[in-house]
Amino acid sequence: MRIAVIGGGISGMLSWYLLQQEHEVTLFEANDYLGGHTATIDVEVAGVTYAIDTGFIVFNNWTYPVFNKFIADLAVEKLDTEMSFSVKNSQQDLEYNGNTFASLFAQKRNILRPSFWRMLADIVRFNKLGKQLVAAEHPDLDLKLGEFLRKYKFGNGMRDNYLLPMGAAIWSAGLTEMPSFPVRFFLRFFNNHGLLNIADRPQWAVIKGGSKRYVDALLNKLGTANLRLSQNILSVSRDEQGVTLHFANGESEQFDKVIFACHSDQALALLGHNATADEQSVLGAIAYQQNEVVLHTDTGLLPKRRAAWASWNYNLDATERSRATLTYNMNILQRLDAPVTFCVTLNNTAAITKEKILGTYQYAHPVYNMMTMAAQQKRSVINGHNHTYFCGAYWYNGFHEDGARSAVDIAAMFGINY
Ligand SMILES: Cc1cc2nc3c(=O)[nH]c(=O)nc-3n(C[C@H](O)[C@H](O)[C@H](O)COP(=O)(O)OP(=O)(O)OC[C@H]3O[C@@H](n4cnc5c(N)ncnc54)[C@H](O)[C@@H]3O)c2cc1C
Repeated sequence: MRIAVIGGGISGMLSWYLLQQEHEVTLFEANDYLGGHTATIDVEVAGVTYAIDTGFIVFNNWTYPVFNKFIADLAVEKLDTEMSFSVKNSQQDLEYNGNTFASLFAQKRNILRPSFWRMLADIVRFNKLGKQLVAAEHPDLDLKLGEFLRKYKFGNGMRDNYLLPMGAAIWSAGLTEMPSFPVRFFLRFFNNHGLLNIADRPQWAVIKGGSKRYVDALLNKLGTANLRLSQNILSVSRDEQGVTLHFANGESEQFDKVIFACHSDQALALLGHNATADEQSVLGAIAYQQNEVVLHTDTGLLPKRRAAWASWNYNLDATERSRATLTYNMNILQRLDAPVTFCVTLNNTAAITKEKILGTYQYAHPVYNMMTMAAQQKRSVINGHNHTYFCGAYWYNGFHEDGARSAVDIAAMFGINY
C-alpha cells in the first residue's frame, strides 16, 4: 500500500518506522527539520558546542515502554537524570526545591513557618488519598481538581505553592486552567508516574547528546528517500479509491491511506469541509494552545538560592498568572558542565534579559478538560474510516510516550505489532 504520513514528530516518525516494514510510506513534514517537538538546538559557548533540548527532554523507565524500545532499536544511548521541582513565590518570600530534605529547607526560615509544614502535611494527605481513590475507582474521580481540593479541605498553601504549579508545569497549562482539570486524569497520571510516592519513583533519563540524536539515528536507518521536509500541504481530500494530498504549489499526489500525525486542530484544518461530522466533533473537541519557549542563559527566573535550583523551576512572580512560567535548568537535566546555565523558559518570558536570549520557539500542547477526555474515548469512531488514521500525543496524556503509543495503535490496525 502507498501510505502518506503527515507530520514528523514522534507519532509520525514511529508510524513511518513501523509501517515502512511492509508498505511504501512517505513522511511529509512542514518544518525544514524532522522531529516536531524533538527540537535540539546547537549552541556554541567558548568554543564548545552544547546540544540543548528545547522541546522533548525527559522520559523514564516506568511509563515510556514504547519509546524505550524504539531508542533501543535505534541503539541510542540514554543518560540518567534528576527530576526535581522548585517553586519561587516572591510575594510570600517563599522558595523551596522538593528534591531532598535539605533542598526543601534551602530557605532556612521554612523550618519555622507553620504554613510550610501545613503544606507538607497536605501533600502527604493528598498523596495517600489520591492512591486510595484511584485504587477504589471512587466516584470523586469525576470531580474537577478545584472542586476536589475544596471538598477535601486542602489548604491554599498546598494548592497555590505546590499542586497547581506542579500540574501546570507538567501539562504546560495555565494556573487558572488547572482547577478545571479532571481529577481522574490528574490522579492517574500522578499515580502512574510515582508522583504520589515519596520514595518509590521512576528513574528519569535524557538522550545522551540531545534528543535529536534519536532522530538522526532513525534517518541513518531509513534514509531520506521517502522523507519530504518543508512540505506545505494545503488540504486532503478522499474518495472511494483513496486519498489525495494537495500541495501549496498546486500539485497533488494520491495515496491509498493517510495518517495524520499532526495535532488534532491541524488535521481538522487539512480536511476542511471534507471532514465528516464525526471528525469535526471528535477532533474539534481536542484543542491545542501555543506555548512560547525561550532558550537563554539568564538565571533570574530561578530561585535566589542556588541550593533551591531544580530541574523544573516554577516562578509564581509573573504578573500574568494565567500561563505557566516554568524554567527548565538544562545543565541539571542534560548533566552539562558548561560555563553558563542553559535555561528553557515557557511563557511570561518578558522578564528574561534580552542579551541572554539564544532563541525563541513556539510549540503547541493539548488542552485537557472534560471535553478532551470524552473525545479521547471516541477515537475509534474516526480512526480507520475513509482511508484515514489519526495519531498524536493528544490521544493520551500529551507526552512523548503518548505520541509513540498512538503510532503503535495505528500500526496494529495495519497488522504490524510492536
Ligand atoms: C516545551 C515542551 C517540553 C516538553 N517536554 C517533554 C518531556 O520532557 N517529556 C515528554 O515526554 N514530553 C514532553 N513534551 C511533550 C512532547 O514533546 C509532545 O507531546 C510530543 O513530542 C508530541 O508529539 P507529536 O508527534 O504528537 O506532535 P509534534 O511533535 O508536534 O509533531 C507534529 C508535526 O506535524 C507537523 N505538521 C503539522 N501540520 C502539518 C502539515 N500540514 N503538513 C506537514 N506537517 C505538518 C508539525 O510541523 C510537527 O512537526 C514537551 C512539550 C513541550 C511543548
